[in-house]
Amino acid sequence: MRIIRTVAEVRSEVHAARTAGGSIGLVPTMGAFHEGHLSLIREARAQNDLVVVSLFVNPTQFGPTEDLDAYPRDESRDAALAEQSGADILFAPAVDEIYPDGFATGIHVTGITEVLDGAARGAFHFDGVATVVTKLFGIVAPDVAYFGQKDAQQVMVIRRVVRDLDLPVRIVACPIVREPDGLAMSSRNIYLDPDARQQATTLNRALDAAAAVHLAGERDAAVIVAAAQRVLADAGIRPEYLELRSNDDLRPIEHVDGDALLAVAARVGAARLIDNHVLKHRHVLTHRPERES
Ligand code: AMP
Repeated sequence: MRIIRTVAEVRSEVHAARTAGGSIGLVPTMGAFHEGHLSLIREARAQNDLVVVSLFVNPTQFGPTEDLDAYPRDESRDAALAEQSGADILFAPAVDEIYPDGFATGIHVTGITEVLDGAARGAFHFDGVATVVTKLFGIVAPDVAYFGQKDAQQVMVIRRVVRDLDLPVRIVACPIVREPDGLAMSSRNIYLDPDARQQATTLNRALDAAAAVHLAGERDAAVIVAAAQRVLADAGIRPEYLELRSNDDLRPIEHVDGDALLAVAARVGAARLIDNHVLKHRHVLTHRPERES
């Protein structure tokens, strides 16, 4: 695996692979790798000839009061893990390689960025994400790019950019990787002290409780959300948001009649955590097939 710092060098490596007829997979990350990141890299490895992992803690997607400075950084550990997981190139540019003096362009997606994390963190967040990912697509020109369903709204935003700007890249969303006790893996979990780490398991338990109510046939969104809310409240967690929205376009829903995204964000100890479940719509069987005799 090669560690590359410049746009020009990535371009020439990718060009060589493409000329040889190979497919290129890109995994955009901010580093501090855990199994969630590594699952994306392995998926990219399984499906492509050249695997590029980008490692860039993107300053523009952090607000002034957020954790840009504290964000965990350990490039040599990340490089070893990326290599073991099948990466060919770790693209780890400096900030001024991505945002040189005079940088003046931004990608702004309307609508789906105005709710959930876009509302809680501010519009800058998805502007920063959409702009840096679009740039990475321009630099690497991947055939396929891999994202985690952990950041469900982020995947939707990227899919929208790709569709609206006709970018020639296929987006693959990979399932959420969890700790054995259900906590969604996150680079920010290292901010949790032992008590907060224990309390953090509540998020997934709350989502599970709501999913069970949905699975039992409940279709009233308020009732489903209330089931999750109770679990959070019992653990003393007041979410920043806990909402059930359409999994197509994040419109609010009162009655669930399609796939729905149940998303939560909450401060737990020193960390701001997010998690989600997709409540899959199942058509009710109206008749059972006759038994064969
Ligand atoms: P990050 O470094 O946090 O920006 O994450 C890089 C990519 O890894 C994003 O596409 C995330 O959605 C994905 N990711 C982060 N955590 C997980 C997880 N627990 N399971 C699956 N994918 C994840």
